Amino acid sequence: MIPLSDQSWQHQSWQESLSSSLLKVEDLLAYLELDLPPSQWLEKPDFPLFVPRPYLSRIEKGNAKDPLLLQVLPLTSELHDSQEFSKDPLNESSFTPRKGLLHKYRGRVLIIASGTCAINCRYCFRRHFPYQEQQPDRNAWEAIFDYIARQPSISEVILSGGDPLTLNDTRLSWIASELAKIPHISRLRVHSRLPIVIPQRISPSLLDWIEATPLQIVMVIHCNHPNELDEQVALYLQKLRHAGVSLLNQSVLLAGINDSAEVIISLSEKLFEMDVLPYYLHMLDKVSGASHFEVSSNAARKIYQQVIAGLPGYLVPKLVMDRPGTGSKTLILP
Ligand SMILES: *Cc1c(COP(=O)(O)O)cnc(C)c1O
Ligand code: SF4
Repeated sequence: MIPLSDQSWQHQSWQESLSSSLLKVEDLLAYLELDLPPSQWLEKPDFPLFVPRPYLSRIEKGNAKDPLLLQVLPLTSELHDSQEFSKDPLNESSFTPRKGLLHKYRGRVLIIASGTCAINCRYCFRRHFPYQEQQPDRNAWEAIFDYIARQPSISEVILSGGDPLTLNDTRLSWIASELAKIPHISRLRVHSRLPIVIPQRISPSLLDWIEATPLQIVMVIHCNHPNELDEQVALYLQKLRHAGVSLLNQSVLLAGINDSAEVIISLSEKLFEMDVLPYYLHMLDKVSGASHFEVSSNAARKIYQQVIAGLPGYLVPKLVMDRPGTGSKTLILP
């Protein structure tokens, strides 16, 4: 393992960045020069710590309240759950016509393309979902393409996860070319946190297949706080833009991290400087282990009113929640 103080991670490939990620809370705290009492954090959480170096480099040393740190640090507050927080809050186990495929909304299907992520976010509902089992193998991909080909109402395919950009570009390029053969498919949307977590993932081989596909590519990045956007991130997002990718962002409204109008406004402004349009601001899914991130709907509405008053309309993300059994995300009105 590369010593933590070493800056050589800056020249690593994305695969090397993944394999040199921090896995131990002790290492994270030592690197950040934080002396937190052991009663405040979990040494061996069920959903382990996972933080790659490029993301780590944006966390402020010595600040136990750093908004990036709080997204990755397993705290003992994860154990104090309220009853409404469950393991499968979206009831996703029941919308899978093919293994790895979710068809809940008209015109688009969502594929759990990969069960892995490049970071473990504490608020994520993936922490309990059996995504590893859902991850399609080659046969399952064929079955998915077949399902999509038989449904002319579908025009957009969404690669989600986990994080679909943890797949290699040989696989992704094959998926794009198989989808491009289906006449009614015009858009491929990729939901990924990798452009934020390890921007080097925007590699030449990724840009190659993106430039080659006739499909329109939309990438929804997942950024929760302006501190997640540094020069490296900006540089690699520019490469995506030059390859013709439409860039959108979704965030989750998280207590203690971005639950203020000031932070959301600054996030939108900074994203737009990097050619990214705000798309969704999600209310937290009520997943067990994450109740300390919850923002009440009253508080969310108050913040949202100030956000609307503080930004041009095109920089206001839609405040939404995912309600099981509905045909779209549910808009929350101010
Ligand atoms: C969120 C979601 C989508 C995408 O919805 P958009 O509103 O188009 O972003 C599609 N399928 C499922 C199952 C989803 O949860
Ligand atoms: S799915 Fe997204 S939010 Fe969840 S752990 Fe992966 S990157 Fe984080």
